[in-house]
Amino acid sequence: MNNATVLTNLKGLMSPVPGSPWKVDRIDDAAIVRMEGRIAWMGRRADLPAEWADSPATDGQGGWALPGFVDPHTHLLFAGDRSGEFNRRLHGVPYAQIASEGGGIRETVRATRAATVQELVELGEARLKVLRARGVIHIEAKTGYGLELEAESRLLEAYSELKRRGWSLDVTLLPAHDIPLEYAGDAEGYSRIVADDWLPELVRRHPGAASYCDVFIETGVFTVAQGRRILDAGKRLGLQPRIHADELSWTGGAELAAELGAASADHLMFCSEQGMKAMAAGNVTPILLPVTTLCLGMKEWAPSRRMIETGCQVALASDFNPGSSPCLDPLLVLRLGCLQLRLTFEEALCAMTLHAARSLGHNDLGHLQPGARTPIALWPVEDPLELVYWVGEAYVPSVSF
Ligand SMILES: [Zn+2]
Repeated sequence: MNNATVLTNLKGLMSPVPGSPWKVDRIDDAAIVRMEGRIAWMGRRADLPAEWADSPATDGQGGWALPGFVDPHTHLLFAGDRSGEFNRRLHGVPYAQIASEGGGIRETVRATRAATVQELVELGEARLKVLRARGVIHIEAKTGYGLELEAESRLLEAYSELKRRGWSLDVTLLPAHDIPLEYAGDAEGYSRIVADDWLPELVRRHPGAASYCDVFIETGVFTVAQGRRILDAGKRLGLQPRIHADELSWTGGAELAAELGAASADHLMFCSEQGMKAMAAGNVTPILLPVTTLCLGMKEWAPSRRMIETGCQVALASDFNPGSSPCLDPLLVLRLGCLQLRLTFEEALCAMTLHAARSLGHNDLGHLQPGARTPIALWPVEDPLELVYWVGEAYVPSVSF
């Protein structure tokens, strides 16, 4: 009746519980009812309400049902790659030297500026297919490898085309990802042109395309004052702030995120105690990016346990980018969340689903409770803990509903 389908023959399901930050429901031998694109009921198969007993069934093939992952921090669109530079670094060449020779992020900016919208769309779609096949059903995606008006505009155009093709993503404007060559030594001038000219122009050209604005606040890049100017300009255009904060040193990025009512502060390896308290009080989601810490070879993992103790609802993300996280593997994020950030499996699951979705304003993603519209990932495991325990195993889910 009434277009309902029942997902059954499940070993079980695990789902965060909205409203209870770290609570996870675990139900063995479960069934899930979907109706009008949303979950109408979930529970033990034996308790399936009579009204759905005769509805068409989908075979869960004995797998475990988890909400699809949400990745709340990616730099999805860029051209070129930096594998050559990566090997030079393995041979001991410092990043500063590579950068001074025009490599590093500048190489990506050059390649991205040279790419057409069509090329960017194809690159983005190929990456989204990989993510989807690995259980990621929604992402946040940033501009930021254009660093000039026209290239940033092409990135926005490409993201809009990906949305038109049906991909589920939220877009963040990040022209202040770095200081481009044209403004070398003039972060102040660059932050002014981004705030005063580029953001209004990008929103005028692509109304509704972006939801957020981001700045890389870091020693030697943008100061808190420059970040505030850009993010305030974004807010006047309806873009909520997200911040690359306290990644390589403490700069007060988390505190600024709380002051501005940001959706998230991201990285946070050097976050202060005060910054954590401010984020908890201001309902800012700290987004931790452990693959970046791994790839940069850093010893300082974000103080995740302290954040949770302080009351923060921590999320995890890939930080997919060609320099410090060339990684489209959500299981690596999950595993590092447990093994290095010392989250429990249940906490890491919440961080990659419920809290990631909430940081993007999607209360109907990231869980399997009634009302959710999330696609469901069916994992071929005896127990979900295997996803972390068998640390190198390349499990592939099927995405259902
Ligand atoms: Zn990033």
